[in-house]
Amino acid sequence: MKKTTNKNKGAEISSPKGMRDLMNEQYYAFQGFFEKAQEVAVYYGFKPIETPILENEEIFTSGIGEGTDIVDKEMYNLKTKGGDHLALRPEHTAPTVRAYIEHGMQTFPQPVMLYQYGPVFRHDKPQRGRYRQFWQFDLDSLGNEKSIMDALVIKTGMTILEEAGAENLSIDINSIGDKECRNGYLKELTSYYRKHMSDLAPIDRERLKTNPLRILDSKEEKTKIINENAPDSVSFLCPSCKKHFKEVLEYLEEMNIPYNINKNLVRGLSYYTRTVFEILEQGGAEDGSPLALAGGGRYDYLARQIGGKKDVPAVGISIGVDRIVASPWYKKLSPRILKKPKMYFIQLGSEAKLKSLNIIEILRKAHVPIAQALSKDSLGSQLAIAERLAIPYALIFGVKEAIDNSVIVRDMSNRSQNTVKLNKLLEYLKELK
Ligand code: AMP
Repeated sequence: MKKTTNKNKGAEISSPKGMRDLMNEQYYAFQGFFEKAQEVAVYYGFKPIETPILENEEIFTSGIGEGTDIVDKEMYNLKTKGGDHLALRPEHTAPTVRAYIEHGMQTFPQPVMLYQYGPVFRHDKPQRGRYRQFWQFDLDSLGNEKSIMDALVIKTGMTILEEAGAENLSIDINSIGDKECRNGYLKELTSYYRKHMSDLAPIDRERLKTNPLRILDSKEEKTKIINENAPDSVSFLCPSCKKHFKEVLEYLEEMNIPYNINKNLVRGLSYYTRTVFEILEQGGAEDGSPLALAGGGRYDYLARQIGGKKDVPAVGISIGVDRIVASPWYKKLSPRILKKPKMYFIQLGSEAKLKSLNIIEILRKAHVPIAQALSKDSLGSQLAIAERLAIPYALIFGVKEAIDNSVIVRDMSNRSQNTVKLNKLLEYLKELK
């Protein structure tokens, strides 16, 4: 049946294509990841920021750049009733830089280290592991040009992935130079592609006009052959970029992080300078090829590109959360604030029902998460729900218990039960854990 909105009666109701509801176990899986990632980020010195989901469109068109897939094809743009041109954020980096400039963070001690997470939107072709609304967890260090900052965001990102259960991680890394050396390289690259124009795939011939660097990571078979002998950016690095890249690699070696210099790695956003990298899970994709779990790099000129008065040297990483929580190795990190119920509260009779919210409040204050079916009356229907939810214990509060100020604690696995006075309940429950 064709998916449509609920205007047509009887038609299937669904969320927009490539966008989905997070609920039940999947919701807990996402929240557990966000809590763990935040905890790691804070230990490494990052602080939280949350920017709006909508931004002025130019933040992305000038930052990520025209000629990139994200801006040209994938951005959700909208014109507001007031005539503003806004876009749903396709990533977090440009908004973070916008916030840094807007709030005068240049005057703070540098670098300013921020983390941010939330949904991002790209009008991409939905497929396995690829959505139109997906979640990224970003780490950014702004206001410092040193190579140790590159190492810091890579290490923090790796640690987050490992804490989530990822194994067999490696880094693909490259340096695409800065304004000193990149132009010389681009000239060489463009002239190389011009010589092979007729052998390039049509889409890459177009890219030659708009964004020749992107041809390097082309997925087109014809172009891949040409790319084998394309000049590589590392050979064109000026002395300071070379030194920076060498230092980043030394840090990785010191931390025993395996890396592979991938001369075709340029990444799909045109704001990168110097270091670009991806964290890959070897054999993580369905066909056994490496799966990209995170990507990032340096973006020393982005602040000026989006309208800032000065360059702000910066480096960041974006971690793709959807792919992590869907991976078989994901540890199912349990969120600590959003607790899963351990007890099922059952009430029987009007005297008990009357007092039941007071009992739930006693449990809440003692941090005992519960589930309940206060709207139900019969023991059978409440026990059936408890069994269906596979909750280990039930608390049964009936008329007799309401009068005696007690409650029955029932072990759902073997159906044994004990009557416990309310004033002894918390102590008793502690013993159970
Ligand atoms: P990017 O911002 O394109 O560098 O992507 C960073 C990470 O986000 C990737 O390594 C993926 O794990 C994840 N990612 C990118 N695009 C999607 C998508 N359409 N759906 C789900 N995850 C994505």
